[in-house]
Parts: sequence; structure tokens; C-alpha cells
Amino acid sequence: MIGKTLTQVAENLVVTIEYTLIVGKEILDSSEDEGPLEYLHGYANIIPGLEKALLGMKVGESKNVVVAPEDGYGELEKDALMDVPRAEFPDDFPIEEGVELEIMDDDDNIVLVTIIEVGDETIKLDTNHPLAGKELNFEVKVTGIREATSEELDHGHVHMEGHSH
Ligand code: ZN
Repeated sequence: MIGKTLTQVAENLVVTIEYTLIVGKEILDSSEDEGPLEYLHGYANIIPGLEKALLGMKVGESKNVVVAPEDGYGELEKDALMDVPRAEFPDDFPIEEGVELEIMDDDDNIVLVTIIEVGDETIKLDTNHPLAGKELNFEVKVTGIREATSEELDHGHVHMEGHSH
């Protein structure tokens, strides 16, 4: 694509962002802790509402983005409960109300769930994401844009230095 300048976020480009995620008044996640995030635009590698807002942003530009639940971690589902036999938990697992853990669902996706009830035989889990039903506030800044490699486009995600899969 001759004449295309990489100053603006668009499909198939690798974008570097600095961000802070605020829910309610609480900072839940920030690139100040984890370092800037690099992602491939247009492949649903980040929250849909944030990806939508980043489209067309320029390097150096900042924005406050409010993401509604349906464009974030989804609406809260009332019947997203699951019973798991206590025996399926490892012996040393801290089985307590409020503990979050990752499980594999029937489609082999890793799902973050929360223990909501501890019984003698059965542990009740809420399979809603902890941020389901919540409005997300992102403060985001675009700090870099580069072409994706053909391998990255094939895979649909960014390959970090020294790491490919
Ligand atoms: Zn890959």
C-alpha cells in the first residue's frame, strides 16, 4: 500500500497503547504496572468498545473512553451458575466465597469464575466475568503504530520479541 502513513490506527496494524482502566472509582488495571500494551487492530484482541474507539486515533493522541457492558465484558447473566463437586478441586485450593479462578468451559475456552457458595459436597460458581454488567472507563493513549508481519496477520495476534506461537 504505497503512500500509506502509519500515523493513524487502522485495521491490520500493530498499535501500542498506554491505558488505565477505571471501574467505579477504582483503578483496576494500568499500563504503568504492566508496561504499554501492543495489540493487532481488528482482531478482537482487546475489548470491543475500546478497539472501536481507538480506530482512527493518531500517535500521541489521548482519549477517555466509556465502554458500556455490551461492548465490554457483557451483561450480567442471572442464571450463569455452575455446580462443581468439591472433589474436583485440588487439595490445597483455597475454597472460599469470593475467590476467583479460571476453568475450562465445554468449548475449551478459559473462563474466569467466582466461588459464590461453599457446600460440603458442592461448590457453586458464578461464571459471569467479574466485570460483566459494569461500565468501563479507559484513559488511553496511542504511543506507537507499526505494520504487522504476515505471520502476525496469519495468526491474528501480535508476536512479542523472541516469542512466537
Ligand atoms: Zn501466533
